[in-house]
Amino acid sequence: MKKRIELSLDVLQKCVKCGLCKSVCPTYPYIEEEGGYARGRLALAEMVLKGEMPLNWEVSSQWDACAMCRRCEWICPNNVEYKEILVSARELQGKSIVKSLGLKALEFIQSEVGRKVIKFAGKLVQSLPFKEIKTPFPTGAVKFMPKPTAKAFDLRGKVFKAEEEKGKLLFFTGCMIDAFYGKTGESVIKLMNKAGYTVIVPKDIKCCGAPHYYSGDKKSFEKLKEHNLREMESYSFDAVVVACPTCGGALQEDYKISKPVYDFAEIVFKSQIKFKGSGRILTFHVPCHSYSAMKVKDGVFYGVMEKIEGDEVRRAQKDKSCCGFAGLFSITNPRLSDQIQKEKIEDLKETKANIILTTCPGCVLNLKDGVKKHKTGQEVMHLADYLAESL
Ligand code: SF4
Ligand code: SF4
Repeated sequence: MKKRIELSLDVLQKCVKCGLCKSVCPTYPYIEEEGGYARGRLALAEMVLKGEMPLNWEVSSQWDACAMCRRCEWICPNNVEYKEILVSARELQGKSIVKSLGLKALEFIQSEVGRKVIKFAGKLVQSLPFKEIKTPFPTGAVKFMPKPTAKAFDLRGKVFKAEEEKGKLLFFTGCMIDAFYGKTGESVIKLMNKAGYTVIVPKDIKCCGAPHYYSGDKKSFEKLKEHNLREMESYSFDAVVVACPTCGGALQEDYKISKPVYDFAEIVFKSQIKFKGSGRILTFHVPCHSYSAMKVKDGVFYGVMEKIEGDEVRRAQKDKSCCGFAGLFSITNPRLSDQIQKEKIEDLKETKANIILTTCPGCVLNLKDGVKKHKTGQEVMHLADYLAESL
């Protein structure tokens, strides 16, 4: 085979096999094999690279079963570049049909025709009396999917001016907010304006490409990155703001843009904005990529929630554990994803909170699906929405 993992053994051998990553890996408890967590997945890459093992089904299935939450990287004492290694391994492995279709769907959503289709569908389904639609996938996954929003892509190409402008933020909305959670986009803008920042929403940003990159499709990622960088360069701004940590992580690590990239909560945290709660109990799910990719400290999220007067915040024991979504992972690994989700929902249920808050639209989707399936009766909201409602 001519194609090689673009990695030297030096990079792989940075792993000192301490096994610390086993303790934080969401997939290991349900796989219970060495290949079910980072150390084993890296060892397989090393064996393939050395030619000691063929890239067979056994290897592929262990790489496929990784959620790419990157909690292993976050805990690793030796700074092993797990993401880069797995991305190269997956590039060598190639994509399944389901993954290819999923990635193409993301590209379609952000095409001219796709945007019109989503908007039309959003208008069509708005009158349905439920917020989510139970959707079966050919892989056996069944998810309560959000309805497309009638306001899909409405924020595009607009500037939202702050009264006393401290600076300009470019809002990288992300596919989920664009297509399904338009209200969250409006909430972020409201909060940023209140904090003193004018918000620019570029006209033609496409998918950030993180799902492509994590799937090993570097070529599609590069195309999306080039397009988005060109589009971003046509605006004048001081920093980028995101409400999806996967987009934020891609912009920080893989786009390497010169301007700072902030999670919206970081800006709210530093602001003087105060919020009025309604006497409810809140808990928070910390999205994996917020700390493993964007390196936002949990103190920022909990600090923001402390600004809400009148609500009680209860920290869940496993607030930083993965929710099991991980984008296409939840569709391609339905059983594993459901097991991880169940553990998460049980932990959140323990808090007896009325509302589960989080800062990632993907986590919102999966937690909403989880509370419905496990009938906990809890509400799930993006933190930006709860804050905007509590202004
Ligand atoms: S924590 Fe890091 S060094 Fe230790 S086994 Fe895992 S990847 Fe290797
Ligand atoms: S990225 Fe997440 S699922 Fe994959 S090996 Fe690391 S901790 Fe486990």
